[in-house]
Amino acid sequence: MTPTVIYLAFIAASGAGEWRCSYAPNPTACRADIVRKLDFILSAYNVVVTTDEPTTRHLTVIVTDEGPEPWGFKDHVVGAAPSTCGGVPGGVAIVFRCVDNGWVCAARAAHEIGHLTGLEHVAKPVDLMYPAQGPMGWADDPVPTVRGLCRVYQNSHQHLLRKLGPRPRR
Ligand SMILES: [Zn+2]
Repeated sequence: MTPTVIYLAFIAASGAGEWRCSYAPNPTACRADIVRKLDFILSAYNVVVTTDEPTTRHLTVIVTDEGPEPWGFKDHVVGAAPSTCGGVPGGVAIVFRCVDNGWVCAARAAHEIGHLTGLEHVAKPVDLMYPAQGPMGWADDPVPTVRGLCRVYQNSHQHLLRKLGPRPRR
């Protein structure tokens, strides 16, 4: 099975030059760190995380060092993605202020990728689809959702296995 390619597009604050960060010695090291951490968070699933723009269909996460306001979102928003129950093949999500902490940035990207696959928010802090910061993983249990838009209970891990497939041994 062909892996789902996840493209991380790093975009600096408008006019501010190179994308900046403070959790690794330089922007290149920061970008590599987020790729590694996101790949780790998604290590059960058949995905490839890359910073090279793919030529085939892929999911995109825009990773910006900027806050949400210039993009038209309210100040407290940490990320955004189109959300449908069946997922958005070829969809684009965004995460803001990926500056200070590689794990927080990778977790936000993983959360938005969850939305692109059709996951909704869970009402308990059991996995990454909890709307506030929760554990760095995916629950393999039916968990109540916040709004019940797509499902009343959600097993995030099984949903991701269905949508992305299990990662083959490499
Ligand atoms: Zn969300």
